[in-house]
Amino acid sequence: MSRSEILFNNAQKHIPGGVNSPVRAFRGVGGTPLFFKHAEGAYVIDEDDKRYVDYVGSWGPMILGHAHPQVLDAVRRQLEHGLSYGAPTAMETEMAELVCALVPSMEMVRMVSSGTEATMSAIRLARGYTGRDSIIKFEGCYHGHSDSLLVKAGSGALTQGVPSSAGVPADFAKHTLTLPYNDIAAVEQTLGEVGQNVACIIVEPVAGNMNCVPPAPGFLEGLRALCDRHGVVLIFDEVMTGFRVALGGAQAHYGVTPDLSTFGKIVGGGMPVGCFGGKRAIMECIAPLGPVYQAGTLSGNPLAMAAGLTTLKLISRDGFHAELADYTTRMLAGLRERAAAAGIPFATTQVGGMFGLYFTDKAEITSFADVMACDAERFKRFFHLMLDGGVYLAPSAFEAGFTSIAHGATELALTLDAAERAFAALRQG
Ligand code: PMP
Repeated sequence: MSRSEILFNNAQKHIPGGVNSPVRAFRGVGGTPLFFKHAEGAYVIDEDDKRYVDYVGSWGPMILGHAHPQVLDAVRRQLEHGLSYGAPTAMETEMAELVCALVPSMEMVRMVSSGTEATMSAIRLARGYTGRDSIIKFEGCYHGHSDSLLVKAGSGALTQGVPSSAGVPADFAKHTLTLPYNDIAAVEQTLGEVGQNVACIIVEPVAGNMNCVPPAPGFLEGLRALCDRHGVVLIFDEVMTGFRVALGGAQAHYGVTPDLSTFGKIVGGGMPVGCFGGKRAIMECIAPLGPVYQAGTLSGNPLAMAAGLTTLKLISRDGFHAELADYTTRMLAGLRERAAAAGIPFATTQVGGMFGLYFTDKAEITSFADVMACDAERFKRFFHLMLDGGVYLAPSAFEAGFTSIAHGATELALTLDAAERAFAALRQG
């Protein structure tokens, strides 16, 4: 038995499913999850000492690569001063100033400890600000696991949502309307019918939780215009895209400005951090200035701020995001070439340093239905073949992949060699 198998067996005794977050259990791809003990640069190293080129990057934060020396140094320096005070620090103001400078729609920002907290708080804020209860989200988008957001479209899709998790009261879910991603006509129709009840629209500006589906031309612009028309707060959930698809996030990449934004992952540089913010008039509704309550014992934690600030500064250098995107483009082109050579129907999507892989003969992927129509069984085989070849992809056909600035020529060659062998094996059947 491998160390990972032994550790996974032990883990299941006291941790539900052996994991602290479900996708880690490899249910989507089968087999035993790898247990990691070390990570550096573009690589993760498992308990059996096998190295993998990592395209998960802790699900997005590790944009500089793992264990970046300057990030670790910043955390070490802070360590000497204690772990947490539960009182204001100078670093929090520095962080707020930097986030607001990098993302101009952010006039004020509040730090929290996860993406889930960021989106949950932004939604409460939008409801408090507008005095309305309903929210609109999109099929296939994920915004963390708060009650209002674990909701799918009900049979009367335009009016009432139903819980997508046990434990979420139907009474909560009924305020969440779920519409098809990239379908601006559905949004227009819904707002036409019930717009006066809708507090906010929350959207992943690039949908990274159903593989990686970019917004259709005009979709984000359409949301902006419709929100303006109906007095609805537009929230971009940039937990994944923020500081990744461009330094200023998807809103900079696509040139569409939301009212509120949520961030996580990169803003914490690998520590548990999220934040939400946006228009001053809305943000001033938050306690202690306003009536919308929101708080956190570890919010703005000094170690987390040290890691996040250093990460944001390092990725602010000229050319960073162009280099990240260039690696990603070349890697995906290489995969497509090798798939084509093996006669395997295969497509990719990319926005900057995030990407999607699809076993499909469709040329374009624009909807949840397109993603669901892909060959998930083939992805499972591909995932394990790549793992055997020393490449760690997201263990699910419904998650985006991430590159880091530490990925270079060596990693490209390793990845494409593994892929050539994997596609050849898939052709064998
Ligand atoms: N929003 C988006 C777009 C996400 O991708 C995620 C997590 N992957 C979240 C929110 C929730 O963040 P967290 O897991 O930090 O709670």
